[in-house]
Formats: sequence, C-alpha cells, structure tokens
Amino acid sequence: MAVTRTFSIIKPDATRRNLTGAVTKMLEDAGLRVVASKRIQMTREQAEGFYAVHKERPFFGELVDFMISGPVVVQVLEGEDAVKRNRDVMGATNPADADEGTIRKTYAESIEANSVHGSDSDENAKIEIDFFFDEDEIVG
Ligand code: ADP
Ligand code: MG
Repeated sequence: MAVTRTFSIIKPDATRRNLTGAVTKMLEDAGLRVVASKRIQMTREQAEGFYAVHKERPFFGELVDFMISGPVVVQVLEGEDAVKRNRDVMGATNPADADEGTIRKTYAESIEANSVHGSDSDENAKIEIDFFFDEDEIVG
C-alpha cells in the first residue's frame, strides 16, 4: 500500500473544548503522521470556498457559520492509504452512527459539530491541501 497524504481539519467544537492534542493522538495512533499543521481562524470566504461542493445543501449556511465560529487546526496527514485510514478513524458523519473508538464517536457533539473533517478521495485531498498550504509548509 502506498504512502499518501490527506487533509484534516480539527473543527471549532473540538478546539473550543481543548481537544487538539486528544484528536491528534487518535490520528497518530491510527498510523497517520502530521506533516503540516496550523491553527487558523477561517474567514467566511475561505469556509464558503472550501465547502463549495455543499452549497446547494440545506445546512450550508449553518455549516459555514459553525466553521468560522472559532479557530480550527488544518493539517496534512501522511500514511499508508491515508484517505481511507483517516476516514476510518474519523467515523461516520453522524456520531450516532459512528463506530466505537472513532474520533466522532468519542468527541463529536452533533452531525454538524462533529470535531473533524477528512478528505474523501486522493483527488480532493490534493485540492484541499493546496487550498490551505504552500508546499514548503509541508515537511514529511
Ligand atoms: P463528512 O464530513 O463525513 O465527509 P459531508 O461531506 O457529507 O460529511 O458533510 C460535510 C460536513 O457538513 C459534515 O462533516 C458536517 O459538519 C456537516 N453536515 C453534514 N450533514 C449535515 C446535516 N444533515 N446537518 C448539519 N450539518 C451536516
Ligand atoms: Mg465530506
């Protein structure tokens, strides 16, 4: 299995509860390496651009409001089959459906405030990494 990269966000519900380290430990324990990380306050324009694929969905406005409600930690994660590995440790979008031992089962507050974002394909991982990071900020 090839070593690949994925993009992660520790969302405002998690940073607000001081869970940056706890979430990152679960990512690392799942075999992912943090090769870039920064804490940022997303602008409305950034959040709308990042989630543009969801702009027709009924929760889009609330999702953008939530994502700019506090700081987030954007990360590049590296590991074998990183996209799937990260999705597996994240758990289902709705924490009520997430498996035991996943980040969302452990920490998420709701289907919206679900603690983490993770890319859903290698193609989107590259787009999302490029959205937030310059190549020289990523040190593997
Ligand atoms: P995932 O983050 O698991 O890839 P989606 O890409 O479908 O899930 O949705 C993006 C984000 O939008 C979710 O992580 C969550 O924060 C929010 N979201 C998804 N579905 C809903 C919903 N039904 N109501 C409110 N927020 C939602
Ligand atoms: Mg998604």
